[in-house]
Amino acid sequence: MLPETGRPADDILAELARLKETDLPVRGGKVTAYVYDTGRPQVHELAARAYLEMLEVNGLDPTAFPSIVALERQVIAAVAGRLGGGAATPGIFTSGGTESIMLAVKAARDARPAGGARPQLVAPVTAHPAFHKAAHYLGLEVVGVPVDPVTFRADPAAMAEAITDRTALVVASAPSYPQGVIDPVPEIAAAASARGVPCHVDACVGGWLLPWLREAGADVPPFDLSVPGVTSLSCDLHKYGYAPKGASVLLFADEAMRRRAYFASAEWPGYTVINSTVQSSKGAGPLAGAWATLQALGAAGYRELAKAALRATRRVIDGVARIPGLRVLGSPDAALVAIAADPPLDVFVLADQARRRGWFLQPQLSYAGIPANIHLTLTGVSLAGVDELLKVLAESAQAARAAGPPQVPDGLVEALRSLDLDAVDDAGFAELLASVGVSLDGGAQPDMAVVNTVLDALPPSTREALLVRFLSVLYRDI
Ligand SMILES: *Cc1c(COP(=O)(O)O)cnc(C)c1O
Repeated sequence: MLPETGRPADDILAELARLKETDLPVRGGKVTAYVYDTGRPQVHELAARAYLEMLEVNGLDPTAFPSIVALERQVIAAVAGRLGGGAATPGIFTSGGTESIMLAVKAARDARPAGGARPQLVAPVTAHPAFHKAAHYLGLEVVGVPVDPVTFRADPAAMAEAITDRTALVVASAPSYPQGVIDPVPEIAAAASARGVPCHVDACVGGWLLPWLREAGADVPPFDLSVPGVTSLSCDLHKYGYAPKGASVLLFADEAMRRRAYFASAEWPGYTVINSTVQSSKGAGPLAGAWATLQALGAAGYRELAKAALRATRRVIDGVARIPGLRVLGSPDAALVAIAADPPLDVFVLADQARRRGWFLQPQLSYAGIPANIHLTLTGVSLAGVDELLKVLAESAQAARAAGPPQVPDGLVEALRSLDLDAVDDAGFAELLASVGVSLDGGAQPDMAVVNTVLDALPPSTREALLVRFLSVLYRDI
């Protein structure tokens, strides 16, 4: 509600603090998704100060605010320098992985002559939904290619076979988010290049981790801009760059491709518009926050954090092998681990059990023959808590085994499968949710196993339709 008269600052800030009480903690490593903690509070505090310093600067016009050009050049050069590019590598600082991917897809689309059949984007089924989103927004069709069922890596032969005259872009992940494995980038990029098609490497999650893991002695296969045939690469600084959210870098192998990502419009009587990103007016806080974090940690800082994350990952992999009924999917190449369970142990029940013990482990639904699992993103802070994490995993697994699979109300899955969602309004959908025990008032410790089990039993298109309805109800005025 908008107050008629302004409220005192203390009062406003107290309300914010109160609202945040039910959020998951952003520091401490007990939330193994969404947030990236270095375990060094002073780094995050410095980034916040830099962010605030540039809060009101508008990135819309780099000629009005030359500081943003200087900062962006420095950030791009720093990232390119570790990801196979030279100091002059063309790049764009964006608000996140999704925006970087959106722009890479736009550049690839616009590199093709206009007209003809609808262009296609060839991607392994493990590629991030940002490619589906970009394709949806930009009028492309996604061709999803099955991955190797054992390693979960993209199958280069199948990828090559999927390339046609309609292919505008070929995608590989380094690593993929779901199982944290690196696709065979050299083979995929070579296949794309042989057909004259650009190849994007999605290193959103791992781009700022893999170079440091390699320097720390880990065996990291080639994945970056130095690989022949790779034409663009995305790397999120708000993940393993440990920068505040709103920070990603998109690199291009050549400047003509970067120009295709840009957008200019002189089709109105107002100020001329020339944008490097989807956003037009935008705060310079994220750029300053990312720049400051890079400066504060330096190469040595990132190397140490990467070593800690790698050690935590190995401890988790070894520890999980000793917990009956749990197994790691594939052989993780970074610090992302997916854990599946064998019946009667249910991963969704396990996630709820871990939540009761103060840990958030991210559930992932089964897809394309890949089983449901829980996902852990391990960061610089994870090593300190790895013993507790393994203890919680073992206890939660035991409790989940004792509890058995979740009790889904009889006929619910069938009812949802055949439900005509267009005939139900948001109020009706809210009642439906309440009837299966989903509360929308926030704060409560949700029992998500039933919801996840139901979603898991439905085809992706039904999952999507239900999720859209859920969001609409969640934001409904009450
Ligand atoms: C996080 C992620 C993205 C999307 O990034 P956002 O910053 O959430 O928009 C894309 N690809 C991969 C592999 C990711 O992990």
